[in-house]
Amino acid sequence: MDACFNAFDKDGDGFLSISEFQLICRALFRNDRGKIYGLEEEQLREVYSIFDLKGDGMIDREEFEVCWNRWIKTCTRPKSAFLIVDVQNDFITGSLNIKQCAAQHDGSEVIEPINRLLETVPFDVVFYSLDWHPVDHVSFIDNLHLREVDVSSGISKEAARVYDTVTFRGPPLLKQRLWPRHCVQDSWGAELHKDLKIVEDAIKIYKGTNPEVDSYSVFWDNKKLTETTLSSQLQQKGATDIYICGLAYDVCVGATAVDALTSGYRTILIDDCSRGVDLVDIEKTKATVIASNGVIVNSSQVKAMVEGKDRRPELGYKLALEIKHKLNLDEE
Ligand SMILES: [Zn+2]
Repeated sequence: MDACFNAFDKDGDGFLSISEFQLICRALFRNDRGKIYGLEEEQLREVYSIFDLKGDGMIDREEFEVCWNRWIKTCTRPKSAFLIVDVQNDFITGSLNIKQCAAQHDGSEVIEPINRLLETVPFDVVFYSLDWHPVDHVSFIDNLHLREVDVSSGISKEAARVYDTVTFRGPPLLKQRLWPRHCVQDSWGAELHKDLKIVEDAIKIYKGTNPEVDSYSVFWDNKKLTETTLSSQLQQKGATDIYICGLAYDVCVGATAVDALTSGYRTILIDDCSRGVDLVDIEKTKATVIASNGVIVNSSQVKAMVEGKDRRPELGYKLALEIKHKLNLDEE
């Protein structure tokens, strides 16, 4: 810590000026092939002000200690979780296989790049999520007769077709997209694809188990009534970064990435390890992730990132915002 401070305190005045801090950011945010990302001007100023804890326009040694321990250490030595979302038979060749959907993607294409990551990248923890529905689940179109559709529903029970969205009466009122019956608990369709590599010590997370509410995100059901065990498992492992991929890109993968970002994690979506339902929605998903300071990468870039050799400024900025948030909470 001291060596770093001294090395970058070029004028030796005992403070890091913003231009000295900029040099740290240039050393921090780069990859192992010599590319320097640095931080954008505006973000640089914001991050500098976050670690200027006393607000006097300078970062002293004491303030830099906080910066070092809470920010730089994580940027250089992240703890990485790999979350493989719903790579299950029904989404690949079964009842809800995404080939039949607008984007006409082949879900099986994610298996090879995912397996390669599992074999080559030293993730700290690996999760597999499974869509895991009871037979009377609210999302199945052939269960429409089990519930009342509200008068406010855009589409009536009689007119509703698969992929339409109806509003169930509840209470509470529940907007629900209707899918073919899929991923019924303990059925073949709910099994992970046989070619997907299952690593030792991996953790399986089951979602969508409540018949009355659907669950796209691996963190929460769609109404945020119940949390899965993902959050507590991530905390237990001390994870700072989450790499997310799988099926379907614009539904469960996207919802999970948004929740990961909201929960404060440095979030990376792996583009070539994900396939989706609708091309327009996939683009919307990407835009949302980027706007929330997440990153979208190709699987070939993951290993260097996990090893702390390719350090992305977006993730550093996201972490700084989280630190600011926590510092503010501590003050209250
Ligand atoms: Zn489902």
